[in-house]
Amino acid sequence: MIKNHYKWFLTEDEKMTIKCMCGAKAPYVRNMTFNKYKIDGWKCKKCKEIYYEPIQAQKILLLNKLKKEKVKAKLGRIRSNLILRLPKNIEFALGLKQGEKVLLEIEGKNLKMIPA
Ligand SMILES: [Zn+2]
Repeated sequence: MIKNHYKWFLTEDEKMTIKCMCGAKAPYVRNMTFNKYKIDGWKCKKCKEIYYEPIQAQKILLLNKLKKEKVKAKLGRIRSNLILRLPKNIEFALGLKQGEKVLLEIEGKNLKMIPA
């Protein structure tokens, strides 16, 4: 599970290697698996303790939370177009950006949005 002893502010040097709680060096490792998602972080060479990249870990935990609950969103209108206003936490969890293209798929009467 996620440990609470992250370092929140990292210089580029620190991002390469951090010091583990056991005193050994923990180098930066990309594409580890966490809750079925890919995540970067640090893995200790000695005790094998893993420190997940905090922002990525936060996104994964939020995604898991959002999957379990229904999220309310509001439809708006800009000129003739109906627009869907996505809540901030959805934007953060999915890493969506303004101007990004998405695919819309209709399943029965439901609308599914797929990042393109
Ligand atoms: Zn260690």
